[in-house]
Amino acid sequence: MTTSYANILKPLHLGFTTIKNRVVMGSMHTGLEDRFYNYPKLAAYFGERAKGGVGLIITGGISPNRQGWLLPAGGTMNHLGDIAPHRLVTHAVHKHGAKILMQILHAGRYGYQPFVVSASPIKSPISPFKPRQMSEKNILQTIDDYAHTASLAQKAGYDGVEIMGSEGYLLNQFLSRHVNQRDDRWGGEIENRMRFAVEIVKAIRQKVGEKFIICFRLSMLDLVHDGNTMDEVIIVAKALEKAGITLLNTGIGWHEARIPTIVTSVPRAAFVDYTAEVKKHVSVPVIASNRINMPETAEKILAEGKADMVQMARPLLADAFWVNKTATNRVDEINTCIACNQACLDHTFKNKRATCLVNPRAAYETELVYIKTKKVKKIAVVGGGVAGMSAATVAAERGHQVTLFEAANEVGGQFNLAKVVPGKEEFHETIRYFKVQIEKTGVELRLNTKVNREQLEREGFDEVIVATGVIPRALKIQGSDAPQVLSYAEVLKGAAVGQKVAVIGAGGIGFDVSEYLLKPEHQAQPQDLNEWKREWGVDPVVNYMSEGGLERPQVDAPIREIYLMQRKTTPLGIGLGKTSGWVHRAQLKKHAVKMMRGVQYKAVTDEGLWVEMDGHDQLLRVDTIVVCAGQESVKDLMPKESDKTLANYHIIGGAKLAAELDAKRAIREGAELAAKL
Ligand code: NAP
Ligand code: SF4
Repeated sequence: MTTSYANILKPLHLGFTTIKNRVVMGSMHTGLEDRFYNYPKLAAYFGERAKGGVGLIITGGISPNRQGWLLPAGGTMNHLGDIAPHRLVTHAVHKHGAKILMQILHAGRYGYQPFVVSASPIKSPISPFKPRQMSEKNILQTIDDYAHTASLAQKAGYDGVEIMGSEGYLLNQFLSRHVNQRDDRWGGEIENRMRFAVEIVKAIRQKVGEKFIICFRLSMLDLVHDGNTMDEVIIVAKALEKAGITLLNTGIGWHEARIPTIVTSVPRAAFVDYTAEVKKHVSVPVIASNRINMPETAEKILAEGKADMVQMARPLLADAFWVNKTATNRVDEINTCIACNQACLDHTFKNKRATCLVNPRAAYETELVYIKTKKVKKIAVVGGGVAGMSAATVAAERGHQVTLFEAANEVGGQFNLAKVVPGKEEFHETIRYFKVQIEKTGVELRLNTKVNREQLEREGFDEVIVATGVIPRALKIQGSDAPQVLSYAEVLKGAAVGQKVAVIGAGGIGFDVSEYLLKPEHQAQPQDLNEWKREWGVDPVVNYMSEGGLERPQVDAPIREIYLMQRKTTPLGIGLGKTSGWVHRAQLKKHAVKMMRGVQYKAVTDEGLWVEMDGHDQLLRVDTIVVCAGQESVKDLMPKESDKTLANYHIIGGAKLAAELDAKRAIREGAELAAKL
């Protein structure tokens, strides 16, 4: 079969071995790699992705010693006894013709444990533990530990190792003046700062021989003050090549950087040009990374020669069969990663197993299984939001006869609102994916159809899944029925909004609506890359001389005056995702949105909104009030316990629980229920 993605599918010959295509599943900590008893699950997780066609997989980070732990008792490989569980993983991947590297990660001062060490004793802003400065002896021992770990990985059947040298972990801490303030042979000029990384590569190469992949993940753009310049990055890349690496991978931004690098508002392939600049100076194959999630983007990078391979971690959590779908021209069937971080990185930071919002099977391959049904049932799903679509498509995939009822003229529910928020354009992809799945799995879709219980009973369904979602909670104060009071749903559907706006409620939607109102309406396009760099202060020059690639951010004057408020006295937005909440807070702050907490809402008048703060009444002279005060469940279809019904009724998603309504729970609930029926 011919495909438009010839570059993605081209094998990469490394001399001693060949990778079957150009797609790398990048390292992503799932939490399964930290405990040996979870390795059967880890093997199933990687095995499914290998079966799905990926060429090369890189595991989550494994430490070479105790000092390098990211978390207490994190995954370590430094004894022969550590090998056995890893063999399950390498076997599961090799069975499908893919290659796999074990990532060796020493967290340095990012370790969330008391034994942390670094180049210099400077505490990181993201760990409470101050590191001890590594002595010469400690450095030399650590080099040996890396080499020993790599040789154990080789014995475990890995095709190679990746050395994590970016994102602000130990080797990055040595590479940059941001942390390395030593004046011995491991500090000072770049030739000294890179010595540790270079010696590690040499020691590993000597130990494992020539026929073993050594990939180095290098920070191409530190995005922290006193970070490296592009000239320094190139010096390091060339030295690593000389020391014996096989592949050079891209890292962008330290974890402590205050510039987003992977969230959904970062334009696709935002950092590829920095990788392309480094590629000009080395001859080993180079891997591009960050916000590459669809084949068009990946193919373009490869076709333009900007990189030799493309790395995706989250997109392969979202869809294990990404490569096979690309190879067989079924791109419209790809379940696209929307870069929300909600179920992957946010879980990792809470010490929970990583999975995926749009694919609840990720890392649960042995637990959430969709088995073909032996008894075909007639199933009604009421509500075409993500909960309903998830339930309907999984049930139909299993062989049931499914009808999906949707009162509106399109499916998507709350995602139809989210997709118009600036920086959330990826939500279109989820709706597209489900629409295609509805068609492929044979779900009968009845749009513009508001069903009632009598009709459902009359049609003889065996099971009814109520996924009727939510309605926005109304504000109930004096004057709140005035025309200038709008719900968030009305605003996101295009209602006219004035120049001075009060946003009531500062949950995820209050933040989203504020961001929406900061841009001219109906600008439902991803942000222009140069404009994005300018707003966040990223040096657009690929051969940047600025330290860490940082520039002064330049933000246009806001087009509206916005007050965002809540009744609680806690800081606004603390309930937002750990890895994305700070981006939303920074965005609103940059655009001068006034954040108010401890607010009591009193009345709406022609003059504006009366509120009470610190015991004083205050008038906010606003012309529009947008209510983002949460939601209420719509569940009138659910029978009472005393009602006699022919069908079994189930309730999922926002209809079941509007508090903490979220898409992650909705999609998982739909899939879990459908897997059992
Ligand atoms: P939410 O997070 O529950 O926030 C509701 C807001 O309304 C709170 O700020 C609350 O603060 C206020 N509120 C609650 N009852 C009120 C009342 N009777 N009168 C006035 N204010 C009231 O809900 P949401 O913002 O609607 O978001 C819904 C869900 O969508 C979220 O839980 C999230 O999972 C998902 N979401 C996530 C994101 C994201 O960025 N990750 C974005 C959008 C949506 P006070 O009680 O302090 O006033
Ligand atoms: Fe992508 Fe969100 Fe899934 Fe993470 S949870 S893999 S960011 S869609």
